[in-house]
Amino acid sequence: MPVKNSTGFLIAFLLMIALIMFSIFFFFLAVNAYSQGFKGTALYYSMAGLMGLILSTYTLARMILRKPSISTVLDYEVRTFLQCLKCGFSNTRSFINGDYVLSFSDKCPHCSSLMVILAIYKTTSKKKER
Ligand SMILES: [Zn+2]
Repeated sequence: MPVKNSTGFLIAFLLMIALIMFSIFFFFLAVNAYSQGFKGTALYYSMAGLMGLILSTYTLARMILRKPSISTVLDYEVRTFLQCLKCGFSNTRSFINGDYVLSFSDKCPHCSSLMVILAIYKTTSKKKER
């Protein structure tokens, strides 16, 4: 779901921007306090601002620099091998999320009892041989 992901990204981005704004505001308060002679308060404000700035820039940098690690082009196909334990009918189909070995999945077309997944494997049929 790319729409949901981009919305989440936008919210996180705006939060980070808000945090940067707060940090700058804290720095402003620190300068203000320092100019009025409250050196302890100025130190406290600048520390808070620095912490916020480091945190936000670090998170922002990680968000922006993060590259999509999963390639969108799949050059292989995952297949699921199923067998009916009652009549012995076996079938292979494309892998569906939630498939795992020794789990009951599809119904047998012959006796309509549940078939067991015996193997999940990757085929290189779509990949070009080199
Ligand atoms: Zn069967």
